[in-house]
Amino acid sequence: MSKWVYSFGAGHDEGRADMRDLLGSKGANLAEMASIGLPVPPGFTITTDLCAAYYANSRKYPEDLAGQVSDALARVEQAVGLRFGDKRTPLLVSVRSGARVSMPGMMDTVLNLGLNDATVEGLGEASGDARFAWDSYRRFIQMYGSVVLGVDHHRFEEIIEHVKLDADVLEDTALDAMQWHRVVDGYKEMVSQTTGKPFPQDPEEQLWGAIGAVFGSWMNPRAKTYRRLHDIPVTWGTAVNVQAMVFGNMGSDCATGVCFTRDPSTGENLFYGEFLANAQGEDVVAGIRTPQPLAKARAKPGEVAMEQALPGAYADLLAAREKLERHYRDMQDIEFTVQQGKLFMLQTRDGKRTAAASLRIAVEMANEGLIDQAEAVRRVNPSALDQLLHPMLDPKAPRTLLAKGLPASPGGASGVVVFSADEAESRAAKGESVILVRIETSPEDIHGMHAAKGILTTRGGMTSHAAVVARGMGRPCVAGAGGIAVDYGGQTLSAGGRMVRSGEVITIDGAAGEVFVGAVGMIEPALTGDFATLMEWADARRRLSIRANAETPLDAEMARKFGAEGIGLCRTEHMFFDPQRISAMRQMILAHDEHGRRAALERLLPFQRQDFIALFRIMAGLPVTIRLFDPPLHEFLPQGEAELAEVAAALGTDLAAVRRRAADLAEANPMLGHRGCRLGVVFPEIYEMQARAIFEGALAVAEESGKAPVPEIMIPLVGMRRELEITRAQVDRVAAEVFQARGRTVEYTVGTMIELPRAAIIADQIAELADFFSFGTNDLTQTVLGLSRDDAGRFLPRYVELGILPKDPFVTLDVEGVGAVVRQAVERGRSVKPGLKMGICGEHGGDPASIAFCEEVGLDYVSCSPYRVPVARLAAAQAALGLGRDRTV
Ligand code: ADP
Ligand code: MG
Ligand code: MG
Repeated sequence: MSKWVYSFGAGHDEGRADMRDLLGSKGANLAEMASIGLPVPPGFTITTDLCAAYYANSRKYPEDLAGQVSDALARVEQAVGLRFGDKRTPLLVSVRSGARVSMPGMMDTVLNLGLNDATVEGLGEASGDARFAWDSYRRFIQMYGSVVLGVDHHRFEEIIEHVKLDADVLEDTALDAMQWHRVVDGYKEMVSQTTGKPFPQDPEEQLWGAIGAVFGSWMNPRAKTYRRLHDIPVTWGTAVNVQAMVFGNMGSDCATGVCFTRDPSTGENLFYGEFLANAQGEDVVAGIRTPQPLAKARAKPGEVAMEQALPGAYADLLAAREKLERHYRDMQDIEFTVQQGKLFMLQTRDGKRTAAASLRIAVEMANEGLIDQAEAVRRVNPSALDQLLHPMLDPKAPRTLLAKGLPASPGGASGVVVFSADEAESRAAKGESVILVRIETSPEDIHGMHAAKGILTTRGGMTSHAAVVARGMGRPCVAGAGGIAVDYGGQTLSAGGRMVRSGEVITIDGAAGEVFVGAVGMIEPALTGDFATLMEWADARRRLSIRANAETPLDAEMARKFGAEGIGLCRTEHMFFDPQRISAMRQMILAHDEHGRRAALERLLPFQRQDFIALFRIMAGLPVTIRLFDPPLHEFLPQGEAELAEVAAALGTDLAAVRRRAADLAEANPMLGHRGCRLGVVFPEIYEMQARAIFEGALAVAEESGKAPVPEIMIPLVGMRRELEITRAQVDRVAAEVFQARGRTVEYTVGTMIELPRAAIIADQIAELADFFSFGTNDLTQTVLGLSRDDAGRFLPRYVELGILPKDPFVTLDVEGVGAVVRQAVERGRSVKPGLKMGICGEHGGDPASIAFCEEVGLDYVSCSPYRVPVARLAAAQAALGLGRDRTV
């Protein structure tokens, strides 16, 4: 015999909060509340296992269920001194669904079950209030009729309206017993006409009807859709809760309400909620009457707080709030009812909250001693933190929605619409806030994206160019807003019949993926207070160091502000796009001999030295990893006649020769072409110049500040041991030359990126020559999976949809494939050099799931874009805690 039924309340609590899987969240928490002495009307829960058994057995109940239900019901009867179906002292119950997680797709609750033509009279006499009894009866028929019998709820409302019209009253509460009796008669007649059967009078039949409807609702289309959207397996099933009724609708000393133990939008430790006097069940949310606040402090003029209306019950509710928070150690979302001044608890669960509230609640609960600091660190979702680091739309500010797209990069931004990167740059230079609107963006738009306050595209997904670049820069971005039509020629965008011209203001919310007309009020992020406190607690617990990917002084400063402990990736090629430098760069590339290249490099050297001096100054005393020149050369080739002519003139050769050289350099697969250390091997003078700039810059800063930076020079795209040997020798030789000339040295290291499978496979050989490894997981993902990030957009989303890949591997590290390659390289590398320093750079460095992997395999640091640094700090702490590697214990 299986146990299908668990009792709660009345001194008989068979369930506990941790039995959520079996009893559903509602049932488990009702039992828990009862067992800690809170006033819970007694009842019982039919388990989720029964739901499974019911469906496995072609919708039939096991034979032993009926007996268990009647035993449990008898216990309830005894506890409250009433009898189910009794004419004089009838017990009424509610029938409530309840899965493991709350599911809006499920059946609505049926209240007042057990009423019929006879028991309604008994209820009226026992309570001395016939109006209340008939009001309850009509509520029951209405709920049961619509929820269990499937009668359209409008049919019920028509009948009430009719009676109200006859009685010449406006409010439901103004109807008397006789008038509710008439409503009931109207209901019963209508139900029997609609369903072809009289409304069930037998309470037993009513009860099994309602139980059947709850289990039936597990498979209704609404519930199915909800499960699909939220990844809830069908096997979980729902439980059914049957519970003695308490009445909030018996008069002015009665009420029903909902509350949060703290403010769910700000997290403030203030009781937050609403109640309605003389009301039942969902009246509070139904919006028929205006609910009133709980605390006097929150009451506006004209409102009557529960604290004033029902002071005794309010005091009990405050005590229950304390008790629940202390017991559950988290903010609770509570439902309650007051019957004749006495408080009853009907539900509790961990309350949903905003990112800001989750931070504040975690920190304050730790300060109050409810939870410890490690728990506070665990409680805050790192991705939610991301939202808090950008200006956000003020939740209270009015707004007019224009269109929706994808939430590609969080934060809010308002500005004038511009349709080109150049215009974005020129208007921003004049001090205007601009939103760059493009159908899609490309690398040529980078300067405009940088100048813009926000970016909006009408095409592309979460990993489109716009999305990736915007996240990296910390610019809010809404991508793929397909409902917007952009007309570059007419300089307008339009959506839903509304048109916005270039120069008019729009607002985007990159966290929600929404676009609004006009300006919407913003709130600035605060990096102090609770945020700083939580970060401090996280920092104390994490093992991984957090660095930033940064090359400009602006990014480096931002990174420090967000707590980066160094630079993990400085992409030197980004330093050459500047108009002043690109011409020297082109001369260098197109020069037909070493002599020409050296002349051009000579001109680049002072720029590079200056770049490094600026970076070393900002990162004083912190490690800075500089990756030598990596990109495919074609990115720098001159475009068009004018640029070709300019280079020809600078080089003192003819146009035809330059054109021929440019054609020679063109590659079919530049990402797999002449880039990374392959350039350094073929054109050694490039890396030599960069090494010189680094060492001269480091010496300059050491001299001016007395604090010598420790440059970490990183060779990209190494696949063969010999590649590293050659390039490392170049660097060491330049170092010796510079040190000799200056009569002074600085410490430095030379390491390599592991971004090709071959490098991972021979990591032991490479480790012999490297002072550190940095896993370039963007390229490594491309090369291990054999797919190109630029082209994968065509099929990758579909792959994720079909479950072929669990997640976009460019966002979250593919642990099974790429992760295995990383793990192997870590092991082989450390087999040769036990203390070999290792880190990761690239998009994954800021992704919490990927960071957990980095912690697990024992990397030393992760490096991510400056805006993700706090996310990474928190995620690293959670990863350490998750593996029992808390550094504070
Ligand atoms: P939901 O899952 O939609 O919140 P519930 O099962 O919590 O549905 O029921 C909704 C409301 O019905 C409760 O908040 C409460 O006001 C009322 N209710 C449920 N059971 C009872 C009961 N035994 N006595 C009085 N009111 C009840
Ligand atoms: Mg509820
Ligand atoms: Mg790379």
